[in-house]
Parts: sequence; C-alpha cells; structure tokens
Amino acid sequence: MLKKTAINKISELAAVLMEKGTLIAPVKEVSGHNFAQILDPQKVDLDFYNTIMSPKSAFFPHKEDFINYKVGKPISEAEPVVLNLKPMFLFGVRPCDVKSFQIMDIHFNAAGIIDPYWRQRREATTIFGYAFDLSKSVDSADFYNTLGIYAADPDGSDIFMVKKDNELLLKGITLQGKKLLSELTTIENGKAADKKYFEEYIKKGRDYKTRFMCLDQETITKKLEDIFHNTDFWTRVSSACLSCGVCTFVCPTCYCFDICDDTQFGRGTRRRVWDACMFTDFTLEASGHNPRTQVYQRLRQKINHKYSYHVRKYGVISCVGCGRCTRYCPVSIDIYSIIEEAIKT
Ligand code: SF4
Ligand code: SF4
Repeated sequence: MLKKTAINKISELAAVLMEKGTLIAPVKEVSGHNFAQILDPQKVDLDFYNTIMSPKSAFFPHKEDFINYKVGKPISEAEPVVLNLKPMFLFGVRPCDVKSFQIMDIHFNAAGIIDPYWRQRREATTIFGYAFDLSKSVDSADFYNTLGIYAADPDGSDIFMVKKDNELLLKGITLQGKKLLSELTTIENGKAADKKYFEEYIKKGRDYKTRFMCLDQETITKKLEDIFHNTDFWTRVSSACLSCGVCTFVCPTCYCFDICDDTQFGRGTRRRVWDACMFTDFTLEASGHNPRTQVYQRLRQKINHKYSYHVRKYGVISCVGCGRCTRYCPVSIDIYSIIEEAIKT
C-alpha cells in the first residue's frame, strides 16, 4: 500500500496522528532540528538534513523516573512509575537512525534484563522512516554506507517515506505500518507512477554515497585488540578531546546511564539519567580510585566499545555512521578517521 500527501499539508496528517496517539516528529529549533512531542501540528518540519540529537530519547529519555517512595518506609510501599502509553508515532526518522533501534534493542529488549520502559515504548510505536533527500549533498561527516546502510533504506521502518517534488509518498512496510496507513483515510492513494518513483528512489539511494571504507568486523575488532596498549596512537588521536561528552549524547547507539535518588521533604524518586564514558568521573569509584583518569583511556574505551567489545559480545558494530559525533564535536574528532588510522597502524 502506498499513499501520498502534499508536503504543505503535513500538518493535516500530523493532526490525524495526534488524534490517534502521541506524535514525535522533527521541529525547527534555534540551532537546528530535533525530535519533540508535537502539540501543534503546524510545528512538524520535514525540511531538515538530520536532527542534532538522535531519536533515541523517544524510547530512552534523557531523564526517567522509575520509583516514587517515602523515605524510611519499607520498599514494599514504594510505587513504580507506570507509563500508561497511548499509541506513539515516531515520524521522519532517517534510515541510519532507524537501524540504531535494532542495536539498542539488544541492550534494552533482548540480552540480559529487559527494560520494561524501553520495551513498552517500542511496542507502542509506529516508526515512519524518511529517506534522505537524494537531490541534496551528503554531509561530509556521514559514513553509514560503511556500516551497510543506504540513504533510502526502508529496513526497520513500519512506514517508509520518500519526498517526490512537493509531495510525500508513504509506503507500508510492516503489517503494523500497512494497517495504520489503511486507516489514514484523509490522505490519497498513490498512483502507478508514484509506486514506480518510490521503488526507483529506493534503488537510487544505493548510489548516494557517504564516506566509505571496506570494514570487516573481525579485522577491526582484532586490530583494536592489537593496538589497545599503543598509548602513542591513543594519545595522539585524543589529544584535542575536551571530555565534554557531546559525542555520546548525540549518538543514537550510546546508552550509558546513571541511577540517582532525589529526596526532598521525606519523599524520594529513583531516577535514571544519561551518562557518558567520555566524562572524567564516569569510572570514579567510591574509594576515590578512577581507572580511566586520562583522556586517551576514555576515547579508547568509546571506540573499543563500539568497534571491538560490542562485536565480540553481540556480533555487530555499535555504530550506524550517522556522523553526529563528528559533526558536533567541538574539536572535530572524527571516529571514521580514527578507525581508518587504526586499521593502517
Ligand atoms: S559513534 Fe558517531 S557515527 Fe557512530 S552512531 Fe554514534 S554518533 Fe553516529
Ligand atoms: S565531543 Fe569531541 S571533545 Fe567532546 S568528548 Fe567527544 S571526542 Fe571529546
């Protein structure tokens, strides 16, 4: 099933989705676009390259309360936070970011302890993937082709969207997506020419080239193991790093968090907040010992986690090549160049 709507009527589609549940879509902010819950359908804005922050916060909020309790009372009286979710629609997600959800699912919804908050949100959500605009230049930081992802790759989306001049074509990919699309009766059915355009666009997406290197998982994993103690290499590639953590906060596949308790006037809340391995105190132990006091140790950890440990443990690189960490690093540290250099070392 394929449907279409005029781009300048996106607000009408947004209004329909808002009647059905919670709509999260790109909105224009002062410094760029970001995903946000839509309260005014006019705010949905699809005129963007990619968002500054990844869409991971739709499933894994920056700050999340788990339990409310009274200080001094038994744990049996503590009250877990219940989500009571409406259907959620995550609208306008680029293909590399859609892929990141599959990597994050490993941690929150497959291996080890299941995170009920992540799982409930994932199950409640229909993902509207959105192809990159092939008529515009690729951002020089992107390298998702290296990770086997293409600019118009519908894999992982429930509904996939392609821009055709001033129109938006929407195709149902999964059963969930097809069902939702059939319920969107206010938007018109696509014609045979639209279907042809859509299929050709998906194919053309394979020719829209980001930075690319031949990256064999076993080779990079082994290489990073071999150079783990090459302090000269790690010191050189991390010498400008400010330990600001921006690269991890914008990353769609970084998932470290801290748990803290906020207690006031006898009432407490147990809360999860994002944390980052690039922060100086991330590994600070209660004794005062910190096994990663040096910048190079922290950057080495980040790169090894994504391109070595994650492959050994889960069989997949934990990076989708979205380019955000490079784009927003204040000192232009580029993970792609580090991997490229590591291979040659
Ligand atoms: S490490 Fe960088 S390129 Fe890879 S997914 Fe994270 S932000 Fe994107
Ligand atoms: S964004 Fe750049 S400077 Fe900041 S922690 Fe990451 S690599 Fe270091």
